[in-house]
Amino acid sequence: MQHMQPDNPRFADPGLALSDLATHFVVHCPKCAQRALIGRDQRLTCTACFHVEQPGHWYGSSTAYVSVKCRECHAPIRHSAPWDGVWKKLGTRCLACGDNCEYEASITKHALHEGQMTDPVFGLPLWLQKEFRGDLFWAYHHEHLEWLRQYIGAQLRERGITPRNTIRKSSAMVSRLPAFMTKAGNRAALLKLIGQLQEK
Ligand SMILES: [Zn+2]
Ligand SMILES: [Zn+2]
Repeated sequence: MQHMQPDNPRFADPGLALSDLATHFVVHCPKCAQRALIGRDQRLTCTACFHVEQPGHWYGSSTAYVSVKCRECHAPIRHSAPWDGVWKKLGTRCLACGDNCEYEASITKHALHEGQMTDPVFGLPLWLQKEFRGDLFWAYHHEHLEWLRQYIGAQLRERGITPRNTIRKSSAMVSRLPAFMTKAGNRAALLKLIGQLQEK
């Protein structure tokens, strides 16, 4: 998760439990858009077209940043632009002296791409995600989905019972779950959505 940068606070601030879950991913294949698996060795294998890919290319959103002093006049230069996934230099014009130069850029990879949550290895859209009442519900893989189902289901069952005994109430991950996932009024609909994703 080291290379993932803020975009979405609940993703960029991984609790222990969430980073523990970020070991493998179910995503859309970059070739055929069907279901592909990224294993613990970070290798992608498509279950439909059998495309195999090693980590290297970033399919998601990213930004190249330059923050330097101009090589000619030493005025500070700050510039950013979308990154094309390959070239790490950014053409920049100094506003003070007009000098044009390419500077080494630092790259920030974003978790979200075109409104979809992506995996942190390739930046491919997660297979298990769905818009929910204006928020995005997502899981890295089926075990993660099952964890969320159990948590949300337990909350539903235990409603009205001593709240401090509610399961894992204080765990790092639960405290980082977005509000829409823990809101009582959303639980039944969320469990239905999880059921649909489990069938996907
Ligand atoms: Zn494929
Ligand atoms: Zn300059």
